[in-house]
Amino acid sequence: MSRLDSVIRRLEAQRRALDWATADVAARPGLVLELGLGNGRTYDHLRERLPGREIAVFERTPAAHPDCMPPAHLLEIGDLRDTLPAFAARRPHEAVLVHCDLGTGEAGANAAFAATLSRLLPPLLAPHAVVLSDQALSLGVPDIASALGLPERRYFVYRVG
Ligand code: SAM
Repeated sequence: MSRLDSVIRRLEAQRRALDWATADVAARPGLVLELGLGNGRTYDHLRERLPGREIAVFERTPAAHPDCMPPAHLLEIGDLRDTLPAFAARRPHEAVLVHCDLGTGEAGANAAFAATLSRLLPPLLAPHAVVLSDQALSLGVPDIASALGLPERRYFVYRVG
């Protein structure tokens, strides 16, 4: 498969996962967390699918398209390893949906960061929260992507207990 095909498949899986998850949580109040603003594409998708929802965005170097910058009070600037624990102390167990899109494309670094993220997320999650991730996480529940008809190991979907 060419790298172009691979990127397209990953983005298609990402959009399908986001569409499924936003529909799933639409009727449930609670925070949405976007981890990794990048140029703001998936943030824009989340806010379009969940209008009016509070979406807190975590990014160490915010540089999104100007139309896709979150409001300052919902932008947590800094390394996630610092900002996530601080946010969890202020707003524990409020997130009904977390989207993690942090991958570097470097397998070793991704795996190490996924382990850190798996430890940092639980204090943020509301009961039955949905977690989407570009990397496999260890949250004590199985990846349900294939049960949702998503291609395996392109995007990871978890629903916590
Ligand atoms: N979801 C974005 C979009 O659709 O435009 C793309 C996100 S991009 C793949 C990953 C982002 O995660 C980058 O902007 C990077 O700066 C951020 N990031 C990676 N590691 C981070 C960390 N440890 N703390 C905070 N932000 C981080």
